Amino acid sequence: MTLDSASLTAASDSPLRLMPKVELHCHVEGSARAQTVAELAAHHQIEIGVDDPADLYHYESLAEFLAAFGTVCSVLQTPQDFHRLAYEAAEDGAYAGIKYREMFFSPGFHLERGIPFDVMWQGLVAGVAEGEADFGTRTRLILDVDKPKLLGPAMALLEIARGLDRDLLIGIGGDSTERGIDHRVFAPLMAEAHNIGLKTCFHVGEDGPAENIRHMVDAGIDRIDHGTRLLEDPELARQVIDEQIPLTSCPSSNAALGIVDSLADHPFAAQREAGALITLNSDDPTFFQFDLADEYERIAATFDFDHDTMVAINDAAITASWLDDSDKAVLRAEFSNPDLAR
Ligand SMILES: [Zn+2]
Repeated sequence: MTLDSASLTAASDSPLRLMPKVELHCHVEGSARAQTVAELAAHHQIEIGVDDPADLYHYESLAEFLAAFGTVCSVLQTPQDFHRLAYEAAEDGAYAGIKYREMFFSPGFHLERGIPFDVMWQGLVAGVAEGEADFGTRTRLILDVDKPKLLGPAMALLEIARGLDRDLLIGIGGDSTERGIDHRVFAPLMAEAHNIGLKTCFHVGEDGPAENIRHMVDAGIDRIDHGTRLLEDPELARQVIDEQIPLTSCPSSNAALGIVDSLADHPFAAQREAGALITLNSDDPTFFQFDLADEYERIAATFDFDHDTMVAINDAAITASWLDDSDKAVLRAEFSNPDLAR
């Protein structure tokens, strides 16, 4: 059982699919199966604008992508819907070889539709727990604020985050477009998140300039989501590399949305060569009709990376994760000897 799409390219027995993996940049809403979206739309009598649910997932820009993202969010109405979303994401993640994942959810898209926070949270908590029990994929969550709504709604979400289970909620992130947003406004969000013991990450340097990365680094960001344009600012790149601030890179996502012209034009290899602590991620697997195993195969083929290099890229994700050192050591032991894995 896996994504509904027939587009997965990494065979079920390919070494890169079977490699136990860590993923740090994947959105739970961006993991919604098309068939599930169609079934929930029918159940709740919501018009999604396409006859074939697979047609939801076609776009050529971040703006078109975000419109589809909104459509998918619109069918999520009850705790059971969010439960199913998280559970199926764990099942699909397991098929991609993912053993541990730090996964985004984006409450802003749901709150603005009148869905109470507790509806999504209760569903996600249950789905994550059941998914781990059934498929062995451990998931922890990052609450993403909606950047275009700016600081006020972000701080309100941080207030909600303050009371959530820290075994499950480990960080605050920020997604959606960067265009026209002065990211310096989010410095108080970073500071307060750190005050209450949460890690921080933000989507920057994706459809916006390297300057946005700079502003979040100045605010003390713990991890940079995308950071595709980092090397355009050599001084900033030197700092990010010296401090080993991790990047969660999503090359196929960037190619699909026109952030780069093609995978071969993506700076993943150049950033890695420069010494960045860079990780490989799927971003929104069902939306791009692939999974993390496919992404590992594509990047290996595009940049002629051998298997040991892909193992090292996966190991960078352990380093860049927000697990404590003892959990990282356990994961490394499991990964180097899969017989030890659960
Ligand atoms: Zn993302």
